[in-house]
Amino acid sequence: MTQKKRFGSLELEEKTKLRLDKEMRGKPFHKVNEELKALIKEKRKGLPRPIDVHCHPYTKVGWRSLGQFRTHLEGYLYGKKGVTPETVTAESPTDEEWVSAYRELGVAATPVGWEADTTMGIRPPYGPDPSYRSNYNDDMASLRDRFPDVVIAAWGSVDPWQGKKTLEEAERAIKKLKLIGLKFQQTGQAFMINDPQFYPLWDLLQEMRAPVQFHCGYTGLGGGAPGGLGIKLKYTMELIPCLDDVAADFPNLKIVMLHHAEGREEDAVLICRHKGNVYRELSGMWPEYLPVNVPRTWYELNRRQQDKYMFGSEYNLFPLDGILYQHYLQDYREGVLEKMFWKNTIRILGEDLERVGVSLKEWERA
Ligand SMILES: [Zn+2]
Repeated sequence: MTQKKRFGSLELEEKTKLRLDKEMRGKPFHKVNEELKALIKEKRKGLPRPIDVHCHPYTKVGWRSLGQFRTHLEGYLYGKKGVTPETVTAESPTDEEWVSAYRELGVAATPVGWEADTTMGIRPPYGPDPSYRSNYNDDMASLRDRFPDVVIAAWGSVDPWQGKKTLEEAERAIKKLKLIGLKFQQTGQAFMINDPQFYPLWDLLQEMRAPVQFHCGYTGLGGGAPGGLGIKLKYTMELIPCLDDVAADFPNLKIVMLHHAEGREEDAVLICRHKGNVYRELSGMWPEYLPVNVPRTWYELNRRQQDKYMFGSEYNLFPLDGILYQHYLQDYREGVLEKMFWKNTIRILGEDLERVGVSLKEWERA
């Protein structure tokens, strides 16, 4: 009989683990592997749903929010050849298919929008790009309204370069569409968040008590292409001073630092310790690489900063089943994973979820 081995909180035969590792990467990411599903369901028995605070609706229309960068990524990340906008559309899930992974795995989603019309669609540095189309705030509200059983809330986005229109759209997104907060991708939007010209935006968000998500550290956009397809890493690498400035100048603005902040994890860990209004999520990297690639983050996550982290998946650039499974394979300290999956999220974003009409009963019962 083959011996089972312990990996994190799972016991598996070595060869089963190797096979599952391969299978979860080799399928369309919106499709759920039945074996992984059974494993995850078993682990979650009697527990409330994890809440995914960072995922993208890269659906048949939604993938276009990455435009030319997405067609490039298909080759760069997945080694595909002959990629065109048509092939990406054909392989991308419908809205129903996108949502069904959450339903099958018992996870609540709060997807994020993407608005960068000025820089990615219309004009340089990255436009004009005819394959580009933003994930507009109305799209995000519609996704939530059509699938309320899994999409419990949604994050909007605004193009920071439209002056008064930017502020009006931010207000409409929060007050009228009842989106939970706004997400920014500063390399795609080509702006420094501590540039004073954008301060009225942070001021408005703080006043509306709407949380904000900022991309942190390395970005895969343009990765490996000559000139990175024009993408400049400075927009997301300079956490100090950029993000630290905004956190300091807007102490009542709740900031979620997105991703593992590879290349700047030292700054990310320190800002997170120093600023009470800053939190983190760790998507964008397979969980198995966290202890190796961002060791300080991994250390803090399991110790004194364990109340600061929320779960994000970056689905469907990553498979939701594979991400959950890999978290279970890691050696988390007792209780940390449940904190990240939902306990911290309810404590940190609970009031914001309630503001947009989400009942917290399911999580408060636990
Ligand atoms: Zn993302």
